Amino acid sequence: MAPADPLLRLINVTKRYAGVGDASVSVLAGIDLTVERGESLAIVGPSGSGKSTLLNIIGTLDTPSSGTVELEGQDLSRVRGAALAALRNRRIGFVFQAHYLLPQCTVFENVLVPTLATNNEVIRDGAPDRARRLLERVGLGQRLKHRPGQLSGGERQRVAVVRALINEPQLLLADEPTGALDRVSADQLGRVLLDLNRETRVTLIVVTHALSLARGMERLLELRDGRLDRPRDP
Ligand code: ADP
Ligand code: MG
Repeated sequence: MAPADPLLRLINVTKRYAGVGDASVSVLAGIDLTVERGESLAIVGPSGSGKSTLLNIIGTLDTPSSGTVELEGQDLSRVRGAALAALRNRRIGFVFQAHYLLPQCTVFENVLVPTLATNNEVIRDGAPDRARRLLERVGLGQRLKHRPGQLSGGERQRVAVVRALINEPQLLLADEPTGALDRVSADQLGRVLLDLNRETRVTLIVVTHALSLARGMERLLELRDGRLDRPRDP
């Protein structure tokens, strides 16, 4: 890794899905994107435009058909198997529209789940304190022993955010994190994400339909016809 490398760089990333017969569907048609450490970036675009596909490729949950994704100058296509799982667990946090919390576990237990797969002792040993601090930070200091079923939708998403940050990732990816929330909870979650981005300098990439959230971010791009561009009507 050279010091000049950005946190994330996509070079001419494409994604095609095999269709029926000879037809194949092009979802991403050559994405170039550079994201610096600590940045916040919103990606908007119509339903089906490939936002989740793009975020999953950035997060190593999916692979591009062609092109390169680099994290700190490291070509992710060269990282495989256990090394890729470790990289994803340690350096990338995910929040989705659904919270995916374990219903039988408490809030405190849920946010510690990603630390179970970590062999970094410093990260693991510091996790309980970090969990308490982060849960306090997102307004859930009094909910540690609750189970997900005893929380509101907005509270569950804030738990999911803390879980995503528990291993101190460099990159936080959120795919429509406020999509299932009412307006007030959505605004609150958006503020939490932006505050945490500023306080911890975790790089934040959010796919969202919520313009209030998108506009709070430093940069806003629109995915349209397989390409990332400045939004047409900002
Ligand atoms: P968005 O998140 O912007 O709504 P997606 O990335 O989920 O869009 O999907 C983009 C396009 O790719 C859609 O047309 C979708 O049907 C197609 N697509 C997504 N995943 C697959 C898949 N596994 N196989 C075939 N087509 C897919
Ligand atoms: Mg999507």
